Amino acid sequence: MRQKIAAGNWKMNLTLPEARQLTQEIKHHKIPKDVNVILGCPSPFLYMMNSLVEKTDRLNIAAQNCNNNDSGAYTGEVSHSMLSSVGVNYVIIGHSERREYFNESNKLLKEKINTLIANGFKIIFCCGEPLKIRKAKTQSNYVLNQLQQSLFHLTSDEMKQIIIAYEPIWAIGTGLTASPAQAQQMHSFIRKQLNSKYGKATSEATSILYGGSVKPGNAKELFSMKDVDGGLVGGASLKPEMFKNIINAF
Ligand code: PEP
Repeated sequence: MRQKIAAGNWKMNLTLPEARQLTQEIKHHKIPKDVNVILGCPSPFLYMMNSLVEKTDRLNIAAQNCNNNDSGAYTGEVSHSMLSSVGVNYVIIGHSERREYFNESNKLLKEKINTLIANGFKIIFCCGEPLKIRKAKTQSNYVLNQLQQSLFHLTSDEMKQIIIAYEPIWAIGTGLTASPAQAQQMHSFIRKQLNSKYGKATSEATSILYGGSVKPGNAKELFSMKDVDGGLVGGASLKPEMFKNIINAF
């Protein structure tokens, strides 16, 4: 059985007291037995948020980024050993905002993934096409290329550390959501690619999340799609009531 996941991505939002309040609310929410909740926190909050949740079942903290190097003169960056030392073992990699604003290429993402895999992290790997590509109807090739260039060098054993998040860029923070059918179509395509590269066991075991304006009002329908195993949620993960409703939508 694939893991169902509700992951929040707080991006560059919240102050420490706000982050603590939000995490406490999620911690006290009854998380359904088969759902794993992951909160993607800004770096300064990771230690405290992880301390808050470390004894809570099915609630984990993720970093939103990690440098590909082990350590050194990379001012402002965060290393895998820093994350491990504060108890964090999930990292979001390849979010479209990192790709676009910080020029993170498929090649760099591959290096980050290698560093994190070697150090035992679980990775939420984001992929997804911009509007221009969707309009040209070449989104499948675009996403396949992202997978091939950053992910498909891994062994099937290493793939156990990977969660894929399909996030069409035109649906992120825009209020536009891929329809459940559009999401299912891409998720099924990704699963087929996993199947041809790694075989049935890996393709059936890999969770594929949908991201792009997930809200309480659309989560149920999206999560009911056969190949949609949950969501990576931006805006709505900042509002405790909304995020709790999304957690309950499975
Ligand atoms: C995201 O940040 O990954 C995201 C999907 O944002 P939103 O839910 O706000 O569209």
